Amino acid sequence: MTNIKMYFVANWKMHGNIKDIERSKSVLKLTNSKKFKNNKIIYCPPYTLLEKFYEKVKFSKILIGAQNCHHNHDFGPFTGSINSKLIKSTGAKYVIIGHSENRLEGDTNLQINKKIKSALNENLKVIFCIGEKLLEKKKNLTYKILKKQITNGLKNIKNLKNIIIAYEPVWSIGTGLTPKKTELMQSIKKIKKILYSYKKIKNVKILYGGSVNPKNAKKFAEINELNGFIIGGASLKPKKFIDIIKKSIN
Ligand code: PEP
Repeated sequence: MTNIKMYFVANWKMHGNIKDIERSKSVLKLTNSKKFKNNKIIYCPPYTLLEKFYEKVKFSKILIGAQNCHHNHDFGPFTGSINSKLIKSTGAKYVIIGHSENRLEGDTNLQINKKIKSALNENLKVIFCIGEKLLEKKKNLTYKILKKQITNGLKNIKNLKNIIIAYEPVWSIGTGLTPKKTELMQSIKKIKKILYSYKKIKNVKILYGGSVNPKNAKKFAEINELNGFIIGGASLKPKKFIDIIKKSIN
C-alpha cells in the first residue's frame, strides 16, 4: 500500500473562500513530509478560487483542478459557462467531468464525452466520474449503468493516459453510506472489465468517492486496485482531510 501513488482529490463543490485556502497550509505541510512520498493531492475549488489557489500552491506538490467545464471547446456565447481553455489559463491541471451532481442538472453522456475531449485537447487531466443510483443498484443494474457511462463518455477517445476514473455510487455521495469493501472491489473489477473489453486497456487509475472519512479510509485504501479517493465534505476540513490521507498512506 505504501508504495502505491494514491490520489486525494478534494471536491469543494459550491463551498470555499480565501480563508479556506489559507487553512490548507497544514495540508501543504504534510506534502513536504517524508511519509507523503509520491502521493498526490488535487484541490478542486469553485471556479472563482482556481487562480488564487493555484498561485498559493504552484511551487508545492499540490495540484489544482476544476469541478466541471463546458462542452464547447471554443469560446462563444455561453453566458455563465467556463470552457477548458479558460480552466487551463488559471493554472489548473485537472478537471472533474461527469459528477453525478452535474448529471442530475442535465449533463448528458454526449456532453460529457465532448467535455472530456475538450479537456484532453487542452492537456488537462480528466477525473471522469461514473456511478449508479440506489434504485439501479437495487435492480442489479450497476454493471449495465457503468458500461453505458464508460462507453458513451469515452467514445472515440483512444488515449486514456490522461484519464482517471472516479467511481462514485450516487447513493453514497454526501449520505454517510458506503459500499462494503467487497462490494467496492467487485465494482472496481467491473470497471476494469468494461475498460478492457472496450479499449483493451488495463492500467487506468480508479478512485473511489462517496462519504470517505477518517474512519473508513484505511479499509478502502487497502484495496490494491484502488488508486485513491475523491473527497467532498471532509476535504473542506483540513484536519479530517489530513486524517484521511495519513490513514490511507500508512
Ligand atoms: C463528491 O461529491 O465527489 C463526494 C465524494 O462527496 P462526499 O465525500 O461528501 O460524499
